[in-house]
Amino acid sequence: MSEPSIFTRILEGEVPSEIIAETENAFAIRDIHPQAPVHLLVIPKSEEYRNVVELAAGDPELLAELIGLASSLATEHGGGDFRLVFNTGPNAGQTVFHVHAHVLAGELEEKTLGA
Ligand code: AMP
Repeated sequence: MSEPSIFTRILEGEVPSEIIAETENAFAIRDIHPQAPVHLLVIPKSEEYRNVVELAAGDPELLAELIGLASSLATEHGGGDFRLVFNTGPNAGQTVFHVHAHVLAGELEEKTLGA
């Protein structure tokens, strides 16, 4: 059994972070190193899926729930428009292997695609 991910530890209250939104199967926090005026992470409560490809194959409804939550948060915290980033694999910058969506909003620089 591997160690719980940082996001599971946040969800369980072992690592301090404010949970800013929650649905039945997902939750959201602010990214600790924001790359945009609004930079949130939307995360399934389960760490069963390591990345978005596994999530899409295994539970497309949960992926849709993440996108719905991202959209509501972008409306609540930004102007409604947003960029959704799923880093997938270490060479694409993924560091936490518990699937999560970066929700970037606010005044985004067009060329800044990364999170
Ligand atoms: P990724 O590099 O795509 O796997 O994204 C992981 C993200 O988690 C990074 O943007 C980190 O800044 C963020 N992160 C890591 N630890 C924390 C934490 N304790 N609270 C909030 N965000 C975190």
